[in-house]
Amino acid sequence: MGADRSGLQLDVLGAGPAYTDRPGSAGAAYLLRSAGTAIVLDLGQGAFPRLAAALEPSSVDGIFVSHLHPDHFIDLVALRHYLRWQFQPPRHVRVVAPDGLAHRLDALHDEPGFTSASLDVEAVVEGTTTVGGITVEAARVTHTRDSHAFRVSVGDGPGLVYSGDCGHAGDLEPLIRAGDALLSEVSFGPGPVPRDAAHLDGPAVGELAARTHPGRVLLTHLQMGFDPAATVASVRRVYDGPVDLVEPGDRFTIDGIGAALTPTGT
Ligand SMILES: [Zn+2]
Ligand SMILES: [Zn+2]
Repeated sequence: MGADRSGLQLDVLGAGPAYTDRPGSAGAAYLLRSAGTAIVLDLGQGAFPRLAAALEPSSVDGIFVSHLHPDHFIDLVALRHYLRWQFQPPRHVRVVAPDGLAHRLDALHDEPGFTSASLDVEAVVEGTTTVGGITVEAARVTHTRDSHAFRVSVGDGPGLVYSGDCGHAGDLEPLIRAGDALLSEVSFGPGPVPRDAAHLDGPAVGELAARTHPGRVLLTHLQMGFDPAATVASVRRVYDGPVDLVEPGDRFTIDGIGAALTPTGT
């Protein structure tokens, strides 16, 4: 199924945290499509089969990795094998990631050149990158030494701002425009976030949303042991727009005419 020509379609491939007891959970992975362009934000554990079920993976135009924690990139190993061995000659996909990704994947396989055989890795830079008709804006966030959030948009339409993992909600503020969809991690549910954890909780996301006026808040990356309903409620207490905790299989469409993101699937 193709995306609406005038807007942006989001398919949630994986919305899990670093570990979980929920069968069927997959690590962070979000497919965004517009007209003939498809990009993916992060590709965590278990996300590759879901990507392959959504579209033929070698047709992805770019994969953007928020940071180098494995729950955000480890299924690039499966993608690399697929591209290298499923096609003759091997196919390549563009990957925009923090410095060091290729080295880490090569080390996992103990094989120099493992990554470059099928993944064309380039360094993520602050500012704007264009992939086909899609614009991706990157901004640094507090988490690892080299972590980014992304705003994805088409033309002047509303965008989707994805937090990656983020220890300071205010870092997302420069990316968010009124009417955007805010897809934010909420690792510590209703909170509080332990002092040594660079993550967000519901109250921090809610206060950010109350200040920046996204059209919709989508919550993700909730850690095991936190109550989903209490988490959503902790955001709603301070933000009066729609709030949902996303799951794999969820699909949303941004209509491209300034309206809020609307769910179009289950
Ligand atoms: Zn992380
Ligand atoms: Zn994470």
